[in-house]
Amino acid sequence: MPDSHEIVIALHMHTRFSDGTGTHKDIAQAALRAGLDAVIVTDHNVWVPEAEGYYQNHGKRVLLLVGEEVHDRTRVPQKNHLLVFGAHREMAPLAADPQALIRGVIQAGGLAFIAHPVDPAAPFVHEPDISWVDWDVEGYTGLEIWNALSEFKSHLQTPWQVLFYSLLFHQVAVGPFPEALRRWDSLLAEGKTVVAVGGADAHALKRKAGPFTVTLFPYEKHFRAITTHLLLPEPLTGDLAHDRSAIYSALRQGRAFVGYDLPASTRGFRFTATGRGQEVGMGESIALDGGVTLKIRLPRKAECRLIRHGEVVQRWKGRDICTLTVKQPGAYRVEAYLHAWGRRRGWIFSNPIYVQDA
Ligand SMILES: [Zn+2]
Ligand SMILES: [Zn+2]
Repeated sequence: MPDSHEIVIALHMHTRFSDGTGTHKDIAQAALRAGLDAVIVTDHNVWVPEAEGYYQNHGKRVLLLVGEEVHDRTRVPQKNHLLVFGAHREMAPLAADPQALIRGVIQAGGLAFIAHPVDPAAPFVHEPDISWVDWDVEGYTGLEIWNALSEFKSHLQTPWQVLFYSLLFHQVAVGPFPEALRRWDSLLAEGKTVVAVGGADAHALKRKAGPFTVTLFPYEKHFRAITTHLLLPEPLTGDLAHDRSAIYSALRQGRAFVGYDLPASTRGFRFTATGRGQEVGMGESIALDGGVTLKIRLPRKAECRLIRHGEVVQRWKGRDICTLTVKQPGAYRVEAYLHAWGRRRGWIFSNPIYVQDA
């Protein structure tokens, strides 16, 4: 579906119902200021459906959806956090068994994304490793390949780094952890369909600094950084039920890419494939039938790579249009990088196009 309508959403965030400091209304207002189309709030082990709906300010509107981040609170050590969207019921009672939880979410018509699959400990600030460890589970929708909070934790090895990265939010994001991308690529190489999303994991955490209380990374900062862009068949209508179903359907199918919008907007990125008389986009399949031409369009010139099952198939530099005809089946995905604030940073991570033997 190459001619589709792009919307930008932030997902994975916490309110006062769990360990965030803001309200649903605060999140909606921050999303409006950041120019988002929708947000998905995911409090820990509590589903708050009454907060769902459109929020308005100065003639602009944003859709706030409510999912949940489910995990077994009694597990020691803490592992296996799962993002649940669209299940339309409380899923926390199934938390003790990750496979039963995933099965329950899918049976309820929902989506199950493994949250922060790789999450390093930050002992200096007493934060444990909350990675996903039960990798024999099956049937989940996808992975949160890039989580802003996990990446922040990974930088906090000295007091100087705690200060530096707490004050300079724009220095935090460098890219998804290579280990998370390797995990995703190996699942794709097994022939699985695995959708990637990027998560803010926003909490608007408050920290005491002498007599002052400061908000470390307000929601709005996160909403201008790592986002998930969705390609919909038509613009959002303003009707909650209709738009919710359009968003969850794009997420389920992987008609999406992860963008780091802070250095430069990623709006307008497209990745399509044409075969004999057929054109498809991210998340879709196409028959090989002799050869398939992949086309990448970047919003500006940047470094770009085409990847198949963890191998770089082709690399381009300083281009905004990249094309390649491939003759091997497999899941092809795109990564783009640019230079910002003194280093090379991940910018765009597409979902795959699945090229299949005819
Ligand atoms: Zn979590
Ligand atoms: Zn979280």
